[in-house]
Amino acid sequence: MSMRFPRGLNRMTAVALVATAVVVSVHAQSPSIADAYGAVARRIATASLLGNGALDRLHHLCRVIGPRLAGSPAQAKAEAWAVEELRRVGCDVVRREPCKVPVWVRGHARVEITSPERETLPVLALGGSVGTPEGGIEADVVAVRSFVELDRLGKENVRGKIVVYDVPWEGYGKTVSYRVDGAARAAALGAVGVLVRSSGFGGSRTPHTGTLKYVEGVAEIPAAALSFEDASRIGKTVREGKAVRIRMDLGCRTLPDADGANIVGDYLGSEKPDEIVLLGAHLDSWDVGEGAQDDGGGVASVVEVPAVLKRLGLRPRRTIRIVLFANEENGLRGARAYEAAHRTTAMRHVAAIENDGGVETPVGFGMKLPAGATTDDPRFRMFTDIVALLGPLGAAKATTNGGGADIAPLAPHGVPMMSINTVGTRYFEWHHTVLDTFEAVDPKALDAHVGIHAVLAYVLADMRETLR
Ligand SMILES: [Zn+2]
Repeated sequence: MSMRFPRGLNRMTAVALVATAVVVSVHAQSPSIADAYGAVARRIATASLLGNGALDRLHHLCRVIGPRLAGSPAQAKAEAWAVEELRRVGCDVVRREPCKVPVWVRGHARVEITSPERETLPVLALGGSVGTPEGGIEADVVAVRSFVELDRLGKENVRGKIVVYDVPWEGYGKTVSYRVDGAARAAALGAVGVLVRSSGFGGSRTPHTGTLKYVEGVAEIPAAALSFEDASRIGKTVREGKAVRIRMDLGCRTLPDADGANIVGDYLGSEKPDEIVLLGAHLDSWDVGEGAQDDGGGVASVVEVPAVLKRLGLRPRRTIRIVLFANEENGLRGARAYEAAHRTTAMRHVAAIENDGGVETPVGFGMKLPAGATTDDPRFRMFTDIVALLGPLGAAKATTNGGGADIAPLAPHGVPMMSINTVGTRYFEWHHTVLDTFEAVDPKALDAHVGIHAVLAYVLADMRETLR
């Protein structure tokens, strides 16, 4: 097709004018995310950073309620408190969605090297571990730096021994496999107990707990975490050819399941209340420390979101649903119960966000790319535009990772999975340890988490399109 240009206009100018006209007409039909939501995002950010209730809420959760392992008396206290809090911040509908939770009791833990030099070691039994027989066990130690080394030792060298996993820190995702599978892998070769290098940073001679998995048909043997320093030292001694003997005396046990619940609060949408942006965190924690970074800060920040929006008079078109999950740490029963209860309406969840990576200084937000998609996918491009609104909160960088253990069961239903990214410099120093207390949380970073989740939840719940 040929074009005739009005006198006095050359072709380049005409093309530029046509292009401008196209941009203007697209703009008139649907404003950009920045145009539609830039001003309101700045209002939400300012309101969140000027002060909010998240820090007081975290303090209550950590200091008044304390650590809240599934099935403990503190779990029930935390649930009752959460119901009240969600009402107080302005959720229109608040309810308990019941589920059964496991009850694991830590009991006593005494682990000592008996030879070559007697020495007591700081340890934490792994969640779900069985106890030792009355009076404990004592055995020679074999030390390995990987499952490959363990398998190479074989039954003849492992049977009757305590296995020490002196494994390197290769990031949580990798190193945690020794905590999760180490007991079953060693038991399959006849080991009587395992001590695992903690899945976390070294430097404070602090053991990190966390859950393990036994395997059907393989003996359940007692398992505990050693600090990085002790695992490394024992490994070195064994490799030097010295015989090491260890005594383990663990009092852990598992009781029958107890009642628990996900606590759910809906801040109802004005036009499409049946469509949901899920904003989650987990209410339970390990029984050591106070569960401040994991995941009290997540709870405290997402619960504040309705309060901020209400204060600003903001009511999005869709519902923002706060879900405080039960039993993330040692069973994921809450995660499974939520999916089971909402399976038939899962397609009406337009996004699921979980804040469970610690509340350090934020740097951006991630959305898991749909299978086969690239960063050119229009949904990811739209997500990038939304995350750009987080500039005033220091988190404008969009990434392609996202999700959380509690929202993962919704992923097969096509729900977009999202989560915040932080600097992550110290999280694995505190994670699952006695050090995870209220003081580990930086109030300014916590405020930023409130603002970021409020902006994202509001925009996702209000925009015309969805990212599904
Ligand atoms: Zn967590």
